[in-house]
Amino acid sequence: VIVVGAGPIGLMTAWRAARAGAQVRLLDDGGTPAGHVAAGMLGPWSEAEHRDGAMHDLMVAAARRWPDVARELAEDSGHDVGFTASGTLLVACRPEHMAPLRRHGEVVKGLDDPLEWRTGGELRALEPGLGTAVAGGYALKHEHQVDPRRLMAALRAANAARGVHSETGGARRLVERDDAIVGVETRDGTRFTARTTVVAAGWEASQLAEGVPLRPVKGQILRLFGEDPPVTRVVRSADAYVAPRPSGEVVVGGTVEERGDRRVIAGAVSRLLEDAIALVPDLRELELREVAAGLRPATPDGLPAIGADRRAGLIWAAGAFRHGILLSPVIAEAAGGLAAGHDPLPGMAPFSPRRFREAA
Ligand SMILES: Cc1cc2nc3c(=O)[nH]c(=O)nc-3n(C[C@H](O)[C@H](O)[C@H](O)COP(=O)(O)OP(=O)(O)OC[C@H]3O[C@@H](n4cnc5c(N)ncnc54)[C@H](O)[C@@H]3O)c2cc1C
Repeated sequence: VIVVGAGPIGLMTAWRAARAGAQVRLLDDGGTPAGHVAAGMLGPWSEAEHRDGAMHDLMVAAARRWPDVARELAEDSGHDVGFTASGTLLVACRPEHMAPLRRHGEVVKGLDDPLEWRTGGELRALEPGLGTAVAGGYALKHEHQVDPRRLMAALRAANAARGVHSETGGARRLVERDDAIVGVETRDGTRFTARTTVVAAGWEASQLAEGVPLRPVKGQILRLFGEDPPVTRVVRSADAYVAPRPSGEVVVGGTVEERGDRRVIAGAVSRLLEDAIALVPDLRELELREVAAGLRPATPDGLPAIGADRRAGLIWAAGAFRHGILLSPVIAEAAGGLAAGHDPLPGMAPFSPRRFREAA
């Protein structure tokens, strides 16, 4: 099996395929994966506004897998995976956000987690670091987070332990024979052959293989640091999110912009800080360690592309958009399992990469 792209999806797919007994080669071009800057919130309920039931089900299934995946990965890698069962507060900071948030709570109640509306005072009793601007919201007990950098480091170690052959080298094109994909050619002209090639190259996957249109959606994000962060749970509003880690890192994000550059813009940084400080005022005392931008891989319908292509020998694991950290366990199980010769996972038809060709 060849896996192209060593972001969170490619790394975890390679790990799953190797655990299932496949011989795996993992190729990456040395670019910065979106996963390197991602916050790592595992948020199916916060982000339940998605109208597509299948997508919500996939996100919930992924969130439920996380504790086991974190344990298995820690065993395989010997690393701290960075998974934290912190819970999340989903709050409104402005009067005009109260009604939409209550409506969101009704949707989520119908879907899954039992939710009680809490006043600002009740939320501050849970998390004394919240600002007085926080007027109300929900406590999501089952919505956790993982540190994507620790996750990817653990996956690299687990892959090495499982014999995955990792190489630095950009794939230039897929090698096709008799309408089947039989491997890849790298930018320096080397050819690698494989029974199955998994394309997990983030938003650039569509430059490598036809069939799934992908575009970059930029996100700017900040990393603050303090020995003793002022909150312990993830805090999210319509304006910003704050993800505190046990290490003292506090991630503040994130913009969602229809563009493909990685420039960090002063106005965006200032707005993110202002919105985050309204949520958690003591953030203003923390050290600002990093400002960064990443490019999320998005499909036209916002759903990921997971599974077999029309052409034999090619599997897609791409288009996870804003949810690639959350979804990595299910995408990897589906794509890595297929690559290792297992049957397709049930319930994956809405995410078939073939839907774009059929629609064309
Ligand atoms: C600011 C921001 C915040 C986010 N927060 C969250 C969050 O809280 N929760 C969540 O679930 N998700 C979040 N995401 C989304 C998440 O980061 C992405 O969905 C996820 O990284 C997608 O993973 P991927 O492996 O498909 O792509 P990527 O992470 O982009 O990795 C793709 C890899 O493929 C390599 N590559 C590309 N082309 C080639 C080639 N031709 N040959 C070889 N290698 C190649 C790239 O260099 C890269 O290493 C966030 C994203 C951003 C930008």
